[in-house]
Amino acid sequence: MPAIIEIIQDDITTLAVDAIVNAANNTLLGGGGVDGAIHRAAGPKLLEECAGLGGCATGDAKITGGYGLPATHVIHTVGPVWHGGGTGEAELLASAYRRCFEVAHQSGLKRIAFPAISAGVYGYPMCDAALIALSAAQAALSRYPELEQIIFVQFSEGAQQIYRTAAMQLGIVLG
Ligand code: ADP
Repeated sequence: MPAIIEIIQDDITTLAVDAIVNAANNTLLGGGGVDGAIHRAAGPKLLEECAGLGGCATGDAKITGGYGLPATHVIHTVGPVWHGGGTGEAELLASAYRRCFEVAHQSGLKRIAFPAISAGVYGYPMCDAALIALSAAQAALSRYPELEQIIFVQFSEGAQQIYRTAAMQLGIVLG
């Protein structure tokens, strides 16, 4: 079955996939935005497991169970805070996506959903973030043939449109 890239407008905590990705912070001890929503939906056992992971470097990713979520796993990654683009933000954001796919591969996961990492409170411009996200997905599809579904989940219609435009620019055919 050929893998598909999808762009949808939804709440990522409701998706029954192999893993949802959390845009976490370096402590992995919860926060606002999508991080807070994931911890609320998963319940306190997720925080317990996260507390044993020793944090996460920016651009890295770590996996836990999904607990109360419909998703079986959570891949926690830390994107860069946007400081204007001159402090390695693009490389760090690409690394965050790359590490999520590596971690998913190591755990044999095939269906993964991503929020717009760094593009909320961390301030990364959504258009640039979408191009990095979608390019990482393209690279992962050629590297990991077991992948079946990569979903980019947006909260707003506007963000979804930005992702669709970025996909067109990259010549990605959406599922
Ligand atoms: P960061 O700190 O990495 O910028 P945020 O959580 O502030 O992360 O935001 C990342 C993106 O996730 C934003 O575009 C935000 O609108 C979106 N978001 C927040 N909650 C959810 C959710 N429940 N499902 C999907 N996307 C969400």
